[in-house]
Amino acid sequence: MTFHHVIKIAQNFIYKHMKLNDKSADQYSYHSFFNDITEKLDIIVMEHDLNNEIAGLSIKDAQGNFSISYQKTHHKYRQNFTKCHELGHFLLEHKGSVFTYSKDNTPQELEANIFASILLAPDIVLLGKIVYYKKTFQELLSELEMSRDALHIRLKQFLNYHTTLHDDEIILIIQSYLTRKAPDDIIYAIKQAEKSIIEEYQAVTIQPIDFIDRFLKQNNIVTSVDVKELADKHFIENIKQVFPNIVSDFYFDYGKTLYYIYQPDNTTATQARQSAKNAHFNMVFLNLKIE
Ligand SMILES: [Zn+2]
Repeated sequence: MTFHHVIKIAQNFIYKHMKLNDKSADQYSYHSFFNDITEKLDIIVMEHDLNNEIAGLSIKDAQGNFSISYQKTHHKYRQNFTKCHELGHFLLEHKGSVFTYSKDNTPQELEANIFASILLAPDIVLLGKIVYYKKTFQELLSELEMSRDALHIRLKQFLNYHTTLHDDEIILIIQSYLTRKAPDDIIYAIKQAEKSIIEEYQAVTIQPIDFIDRFLKQNNIVTSVDVKELADKHFIENIKQVFPNIVSDFYFDYGKTLYYIYQPDNTTATQARQSAKNAHFNMVFLNLKIE
């Protein structure tokens, strides 16, 4: 896998999450994504107190259960990096069943490191915080909960990827940012890449199924006002393959139909119908979203 490929996969996961959860660059924290995806994939996350050399460990057992653990005694920022690194092994679909965090420069270890550093500080977040909010290096450390070394490496990689600057120029720019001697140099450098960073963010699109997943979690019900594809019975059949428990129904009045699906485990048919009726009223009389 090329690094470019790793970057694309990481961005795709993170930007999707940001868009679905309305997270702006300034509110971003990896925790929200990490908790969401580990819950969704049923990955158990825990501390361990093994040999101190083992910063992190992830296991895919014979039954297909996933777990991630990280060293209890390490600093919180180091634990953050470890957790993201281990998650990287799963999301990059690395072959193997046990991954220990190691300093080996195997391709999989390097890929998991790149994945982790992007998850802690996505490109669009660095653009927002450094260029628009004029945050200092020290503010970035505490907001992104990264170690000094991890942020330093991340900025180097970020400028390397987005600009044509030479390595020695990049090191000087980061140094001037860190010491606040010439903090505008990094802003100037990132500005050259502003357009392409934003384009990469915009290029990540959200599928109707992603919205359904989010609305079901939030409200237990999704209507055709939220996701217009719900009016299509073939689409509903496909959705039922992914969410086998859902019930689909419709509400018809004033010559207009509202289609909806709901989770019967979390809401009754009567509650769902009442929500659908309200949404239908809004659709017909307040003219929301669809004509
Ligand atoms: Zn690893």
